[in-house]
Amino acid sequence: MPTIRKLPVGLVNKIAAGEVIERPASVVKELLENSIDAGAKQVEVSIEGGGIDLIRITDNGCGIDQSQLTLAVAPHATSKLREDDDLFDVRTLGFRGEALASIAEISHMTLRSRIADEDSAYELIIRGGEQEPIRPTSGPVGTTIEIRHLFFNTPVRRKFMKSAQTEMGHVVEAFTRVALAYPHVHLLLLSGGRVLHDLPPTERWSERIRTFFGDEVADALMSIDQRDDKVSIRGYVADPSVSRSNNRMQYLFLNGRYIRDRALQHSLGEAYRGLLMVGRLPVCFLHIEIDPKTVDVNVHPTKVEVRFEDSGSIYSRLLSGLRTKFLNSNLVAKVRSEAVLPLEAEAFRAIPASAPEASSPTGLLDWAKSSASNLPGRVPEFRPFSDNNRFSVPNLGANRAATMEDPFFSPSPSTATLARPSHAENWEAETASPEIRRVDNVPMDETSSHSIDGSKRHLGFQIHNRYLVTEDETGMVIVDQHALHERILYEQIKNKVLSKSLDVQNLLVPETITLAASEMALALEYQQILADIGLTIEPFGGDTLLISSYPAILQGISPGEVLRQVLEPMLSGGKKPDVRNLLDELMNMIACKAAVKAGDRLTPDEISSLLEQREMYQDTHHCPHGRPTALFFSRDQLDKMFKRI
Ligand code: ADP
Ligand code: MG
Repeated sequence: MPTIRKLPVGLVNKIAAGEVIERPASVVKELLENSIDAGAKQVEVSIEGGGIDLIRITDNGCGIDQSQLTLAVAPHATSKLREDDDLFDVRTLGFRGEALASIAEISHMTLRSRIADEDSAYELIIRGGEQEPIRPTSGPVGTTIEIRHLFFNTPVRRKFMKSAQTEMGHVVEAFTRVALAYPHVHLLLLSGGRVLHDLPPTERWSERIRTFFGDEVADALMSIDQRDDKVSIRGYVADPSVSRSNNRMQYLFLNGRYIRDRALQHSLGEAYRGLLMVGRLPVCFLHIEIDPKTVDVNVHPTKVEVRFEDSGSIYSRLLSGLRTKFLNSNLVAKVRSEAVLPLEAEAFRAIPASAPEASSPTGLLDWAKSSASNLPGRVPEFRPFSDNNRFSVPNLGANRAATMEDPFFSPSPSTATLARPSHAENWEAETASPEIRRVDNVPMDETSSHSIDGSKRHLGFQIHNRYLVTEDETGMVIVDQHALHERILYEQIKNKVLSKSLDVQNLLVPETITLAASEMALALEYQQILADIGLTIEPFGGDTLLISSYPAILQGISPGEVLRQVLEPMLSGGKKPDVRNLLDELMNMIACKAAVKAGDRLTPDEISSLLEQREMYQDTHHCPHGRPTALFFSRDQLDKMFKRI
């Protein structure tokens, strides 16, 4: 029978170190956090050889009493917890009492400290857990900890060290996280004697952010301040012009602690849905404050992950806070498209402040509801084209127009019209005349379902069967017809789903579909939500499902294919299989499939119907797939390009 014995302290410490101290940057993190917990106002971090040769951290915090030095490096010894209950009300960065013991076990550590009441500092040297006697030394109030020969007695760990440069990169990241979390602490970082960062205390968080991430990020920041009695979320998010291909620039601080949290990252992604290209992730710097009693920080050795008592409420507060902000902001679509015109970024303008708002944006539900149903009355001041206001462009597109058979481009030069920019001031007056027929031979599609009434005016024209060209008060707009229609449908479907009024097509003969076990499990788990969107499914034995209805709008597409496509992103692990994602996937897909495509010829009425829903391309610059919906050229910019001003 194997004998059970207690492990020697050194081995216990090494095991703990294995969890907590992965690389030099982990030491920097732990020591910096200790300095912050000690109330330091100034901390200097000095590194040699990426931290493999030396890590020295000096703070002006409360210091450690001579009699406590040995305890400080003992395992499971801490000044930060007293009662059992304290574990569920942690207000310090540390509490496990493991870091110093672990680090001392796997390095040569010098711990020098002085408290305010003593005249002398005291020094404790430990080599691989072996302590030397404490001796007095000189030094200011505070603590200095020096670590040399990290991992000298754990060769496997040592072997995994990367180059000094790589390790330094990790050190800088660890430093950055603490520096961002504590802007009122003066922090210094030196490498090889060179100052990398000298960060004086600041009241302005954005200053620190600028120091680390430069003007491009700092200039794109929008402030967030969303507080209620339970949660406070403050800080900055970058406007969609700045994004990253990974989520490393999502700095979330929970009660002063840098954390990574999948749910919150997901919430951020949701908030930016439609604003960023697919595969791009938002950049943010957010402080979240909640009652420490409502979060468990003891779930991860380095505490980078936490468990919220009510993660759903933080999720939705973050989402709605950001959404509200975006709807209230003039987001600049800094779209660059060489194919359009060689323009500078400024050519693409922000939504004009004077543009009619889609609604008073107060939250996600409002946002969802502020969509396409209320449009005809919203656009009277928006009348781009008028016969009174035409000027001839004899060669512009005449030949190509003929081959494109676009009703707005007549082969006859005299009827090829464009609104003249310099007459723009007159548009308002002209809108008084309701009957504006642009070109007499326009083939009107009387049966168009988009036709609202006989007096409808045309708001723009189609080019290349894929883009719609129009204008608004301040300039010219080119709209991607597919992206816009998709966006409109998405909002309509969202409304219908919310009001449970989506049209459903019942199948005379239910369709059977064979699914993999994982697909089947997911489908059945979300049977009710699928039903809300019109996909009625039932288990049919074994690996077979029966589909008896599907969303009417998807006529022509196999119901089985719809189901599979909706489940796919969640099964491949790309998305969390939850209600929100499932619904969004369904709505995206329906919108995408049902929308007009690039290449579809549209009737004038269809074009007008699309363009009437201007808030769809103004408020949201991207279709659900993240491509831009519209490009804006300001009149000033056009005037400049034509050298009028
Ligand atoms: P923890 O931070 O979880 O308490 P550590 O092993 O990191 O555990 O530190 C042990 C103890 O040593 C701390 O509780 C604290 O009392 C003391 N200590 C560590 N670093 C410092 C410091 N820089 N200034 C003052 N006290 C410190
Ligand atoms: Mg600690």
